[in-house]
Amino acid sequence: MKYDVIIIGGGQSGLASAYFLRRSKLKYVILDSEKTCGGSWQHAWDSLTLFSPSEYSSLPGWLMPKSDNMFPARNEVIDYLCRYEERYKFPVERPVEVKEVKKVGGSFQIIATEKTYVSRSVISATGTWNKPNIPNILGKELFKGKQFHSANYKIPAVFQDQKVLIVGEGNSGAQILAEVSKVAKTVWSTLKAPEFLSDDVDGRVLFDVASDKYYAEQKGEKFNASQYNLGNIVMVPSVKEARARGVLTSKGHFTRIYKDGVIWEDGTKEAFDSIIWCTGFGYSTAYLSTIVSEDEKGKIRTNGTRAVEVDGLWLVGYGGWTGYASATLIGVGRSAKHTVKEVEEYLKN
Ligand code: FAD
Repeated sequence: MKYDVIIIGGGQSGLASAYFLRRSKLKYVILDSEKTCGGSWQHAWDSLTLFSPSEYSSLPGWLMPKSDNMFPARNEVIDYLCRYEERYKFPVERPVEVKEVKKVGGSFQIIATEKTYVSRSVISATGTWNKPNIPNILGKELFKGKQFHSANYKIPAVFQDQKVLIVGEGNSGAQILAEVSKVAKTVWSTLKAPEFLSDDVDGRVLFDVASDKYYAEQKGEKFNASQYNLGNIVMVPSVKEARARGVLTSKGHFTRIYKDGVIWEDGTKEAFDSIIWCTGFGYSTAYLSTIVSEDEKGKIRTNGTRAVEVDGLWLVGYGGWTGYASATLIGVGRSAKHTVKEVEEYLKN
């Protein structure tokens, strides 16, 4: 069977794309490597919450149900994604991991673990979670303790009574530090001094700023977003509480790793039991490398969401790269809608 569109990835970005596709007459399917619904939210740490209230965290068409919490918990997000998928009866095949995409003639061959699918176009919506980034620090392989990435951090109890180094000045670093510091002795290492948003700024404000930036650029106007740096740390309740305990201070950065720990810039050594790298992600697009050139992060050349080097390929949900705020629940709808319009146009010709 030949599809018109295959969406690779069944997280929020894949579902938002499917929402607009289901109104078309196009034959499409979603291929997702997870065993069940919920995308990468299934792998996030247990205490993770959204940084916006539910009414600011909805996919197109159906509002996220109200939560008892100001910021919905990870399980509520998973539940919402599962119910969203069920509500619209999207055709999703799981678990199907796409290994490689080829283009033969005018069609794509999507080579998955057990089967090859054929489609006239592809929407890649595989997020970032499968491509954790750990910087290349000298001596990393010598460390005898345990190393984790925020992508596989679940609960603080694992670190009970240890001495733990938490690396990274983003939201993940601050949130994981906040809870691990309750059960372990922690040190925070950052490349630059961590910057915090004011207490009254949450995802709502950040989304509004991202939208203003988007509309200004659509009109060819300059936009000064310096008032809020979208990458600064959001003061969610756990981070505020950590600030009150005085643990939100960075020791700066280290230059190398040795067998027991790290060597700080001034040459002093410090031993640790574990290191948690909260150093972000690349893009989970390795399966496209046969048909497009990727940089080391997995980024390819695009115009909006459309691949420049290959006709018939789009990428949705990768944040600033393929659409302002498109890595958020509320932001991905705009990007998905626009993409599906382009796909429909493309398939007409
Ligand atoms: P994913 O959720 O990663 O879904 C991609 C799917 O594709 C997964 O199911 C994956 O298994 C599958 N896949 C990957 N590779 C393949 C393959 N080769 N073949 C088949 N399937 C594949 N957003 C907000 O809106 N609000 C927040 O408060 C918020 N907080 C966040 C906090 C953290 C710490 C992080 C990391 C992200 C946060 N986000 C937040 C961002 C966003 O919601 C997530 O990044 C989201 O998971 C992105 O959705 P996605 O569908 O693009 O990717």
